[in-house]
Amino acid sequence: MDNLPKHGANYVPLTPLTFLTRASNSYANRTSTIYANIRFTWRQTYERCCRLASSLRSLNIVKNDVVSVLAPNVPAMLEMHFAVPMAGAVLNAINTRLDARNVALILKHSEAKIFFVDCEYVDKAKKAIEILMADFQMPMPLIVVIDDLDSPTGIRLGELEYEQLVYQGNPECVLENIDDEWNPITLSYTSGTTSEPKGVVYSHRGAFLSTLSLILGWEMGTEPVYLWSLPMFHCNGWTFTWGIAARGGTNVCIRNTTAQEIYSSITLHKVTHMCAAPIVLNIILEAKPHEQCQITTPVQILVGGAPPPAPLLEKIERQGFHVVHAYGLTEATGPALVCEWQSKWNKLPWEEQSKIKARQGLGILTLADVDVKNFKTMQSVPRDGKTTGEICLRGSSIMKGYLKNEKANSEVFKNGWFFTGDMGVIHPDGYLEIKDRCKDVIISGGENISSVEVESAILKHPYVVEASVVAMPHPRWGESPCAFVILRKDCNFKESDIVAHCRKNLPGFMVPKKVQFVEELPKTGTGKVQKNHLRAVAKTFAVTENANQKTKRSSQVNREKPRSYDQSHQQILALSRL
Ligand code: ADP
Repeated sequence: MDNLPKHGANYVPLTPLTFLTRASNSYANRTSTIYANIRFTWRQTYERCCRLASSLRSLNIVKNDVVSVLAPNVPAMLEMHFAVPMAGAVLNAINTRLDARNVALILKHSEAKIFFVDCEYVDKAKKAIEILMADFQMPMPLIVVIDDLDSPTGIRLGELEYEQLVYQGNPECVLENIDDEWNPITLSYTSGTTSEPKGVVYSHRGAFLSTLSLILGWEMGTEPVYLWSLPMFHCNGWTFTWGIAARGGTNVCIRNTTAQEIYSSITLHKVTHMCAAPIVLNIILEAKPHEQCQITTPVQILVGGAPPPAPLLEKIERQGFHVVHAYGLTEATGPALVCEWQSKWNKLPWEEQSKIKARQGLGILTLADVDVKNFKTMQSVPRDGKTTGEICLRGSSIMKGYLKNEKANSEVFKNGWFFTGDMGVIHPDGYLEIKDRCKDVIISGGENISSVEVESAILKHPYVVEASVVAMPHPRWGESPCAFVILRKDCNFKESDIVAHCRKNLPGFMVPKKVQFVEELPKTGTGKVQKNHLRAVAKTFAVTENANQKTKRSSQVNREKPRSYDQSHQQILALSRL
């Protein structure tokens, strides 16, 4: 049996590009893309991608060149996920919420040859190019503006425009042969919540296998109608930029993820699936009555990217959404664990079900193994749902590595495992639960406090909309929890009310020593709370709190202050802009 050879028929490099060819052959006339008044079929999408790939070639793009794009969830962004690798190049989708300097840093680090810019981001791109050339002494990449397909603006940044490249390209173009599945397909930068952004490289093989795993993990059938509420720049839309083609589905593209866009797309296009970070669940729940609509068939929603508190999951399910919870990170090509649902749980009360759903779950099929290891001994922790360790993964959905960053690679790849930097436990049934990011754990009097657990308890309060908990220096305990809380607009609770609520729901040492009401939390482009900014603010509270302890009267005044748009809010926002 060993001597049977590998050959062209049975040993074909894996690549998600085959999903598009298949969709174009088998779902030729089915709608591939909807954007405002624009519609394409899969045959048209395939042809547009071939044309764009041929134009990229005529612009001297060669194998492994980087093509960057700064665009929202418009059809061009979707097409580039196929067209760029079809030309042999590597797609770098940039987070649109970054400032010009960070965009310039990415253009520099990735050495992008061409920079595609949506008309909405032309000003930011101009500034980024200036910084790239003046501060970093780098040559200017070729710039292509992506004008709005539905209502063109005529804005240009030079000669080239996306539709013109599509129009001029050859639909019969012979595409790059993917001779090695380990070739790079995309380059994505981490959002940098814990350290400097790093360039994460995926292979054709990793992208192919992760896409299949997520289709299976989410149990996505054929012909889904998928709403693009998750940015495509976030881990290539958790692989669904390729996955919807694999299922012959329809991509509903939207420029902005607002409650109105979400609800009207669901009604108008009969959306069946969408992905979202927990912040989007808040957007849906906070929709004004005129923006909402009745959801008649459950919309499947894959939630992840940050810990979704159980009470939030319960609220969104009551609204007509069916939640599947996933955990992942850029380095694992998006979701790495999915909380696979077991039918025996259906009989439990809602509250119990949401608690189970809030666990991060089991490794997706592409992963060979998932474990939680003790930091020091590297031994697996017992499956007792209590002992914490670092979550580590191994398998084909893990990135090739960080681009030009040997130090970071050697820190995360150790002993045949990829270390996530997240702390968790394994329950007796094998399901994993995140306790915190290693850097976010609060160590109070020698006890580890999971900020996620404190947040979850605060969110049980019916008037709390969002909560984020960080470590605040404490003279006696070393650190103590400090909570930043957004309340519903129609209430006037005091700090002491939230503390009393926590006392009922948490052991004493976990109760926040300080609760600060704010109107906004600083967030990254992918909706994650920037806890490093909150920690900086909490440090300043620590100083005040300590001084206050000496003068008890002034402390009383400070503690009982009603919710207001105060200094700390300004400070948080100022820090988040840095
Ligand atoms: P960055 O690491 O720069 O913030 P990522 O998007 O890669 O960018 O973030 C991944 C991190 O998000 C994970 O390491 C984890 O801390 C957090 N995360 C993602 N999904 C979940 C989830 N379902 N529950 C809890 N935390 C999550």
